[in-house]
Amino acid sequence: MKYSGVFYFYTVFEEIYSPVQKIAFAPLNNLFVKRDDLIDPYISGNKWRKLKYILAKAKAAHKTHLVTFGGAYSNHLVATAAAASRSGLTATAFVRGEEVQNEMLLLCSLFGMKLIFTDRESYRDKCKLYKQHFADEEQTYFINEGGASPEATIGCAEIISELTEPYDHIFCAAGTGTTAAGLLRGIQQHQLNTKLHIIPVLKGASFIEEEINKYAPISHHLELHLDYHFGGYAKTTPELISFIKTFTAKTGLLLDPVYTAKMFYAIQDLAKQEIIGKDEKVLAIHTGGLMGLFGMKHKF
Ligand SMILES: *Cc1c(COP(=O)(O)O)cnc(C)c1O
Repeated sequence: MKYSGVFYFYTVFEEIYSPVQKIAFAPLNNLFVKRDDLIDPYISGNKWRKLKYILAKAKAAHKTHLVTFGGAYSNHLVATAAAASRSGLTATAFVRGEEVQNEMLLLCSLFGMKLIFTDRESYRDKCKLYKQHFADEEQTYFINEGGASPEATIGCAEIISELTEPYDHIFCAAGTGTTAAGLLRGIQQHQLNTKLHIIPVLKGASFIEEEINKYAPISHHLELHLDYHFGGYAKTTPELISFIKTFTAKTGLLLDPVYTAKMFYAIQDLAKQEIIGKDEKVLAIHTGGLMGLFGMKHKF
């Protein structure tokens, strides 16, 4: 039986809590972390940043139904589901691959998201899928996989606007590169003298430069580090897992094996090689995504 009652929606994208905290992380003496992981447990980190202006645009256009795409462990799906339910919108997701159940999809369903499992072949053509299912629905709003869009980069650029101090280096993990593009935009807009170090988590991710360039012109600020993928997307090694355990036990910060662990590992490695000076001011963006840990519990 379905419960029906009156619910009150609160505004999702107003005030946020994302402090900058200093952590002890040898050999660096000045490592700071932008705690975007604290923004929200479900609309986590950069997914909150990306959805902020996407949802604003959808609402301004009087759209009531969000449709998006992702893999079965996608942080973006959970974030979209949570943001939709809190904003009084409905949501549907095309989920790549055959029907499965896991912690992430359970959250999506609890937030009221409708899941359409889609074979990998059909999944590739997202516009076609969208048209097949929703061509006649005027109130439906298309959100690309991972939220990739100009609106997403505007939201991510705000990470830079919130900083009250200059940094020599800013680090961020990358999947699609949309967050990286937003950060680069922010650095350019504020005319900062900061190097932006991007750690792609996919293997052979040189495509990412082109992806970033769609939203922000490539400038001398950007530095890509293509060798910290640990075998590819969602792949880990015993060394990475051991790094996560030590890091979390010593700093009290949780990392996810897919994104933030690879970034912090890269920071430490570059510092050990003295490519980053131990007294330079470094800011790591904690992009959240910690729910993903539970899907990888077998690795620990
Ligand atoms: C999605 C995600 C990223 C990657 O963001 P892109 O904009 O696709 O590069 C990084 N970190 C976490 C925790 C994420 O969930």
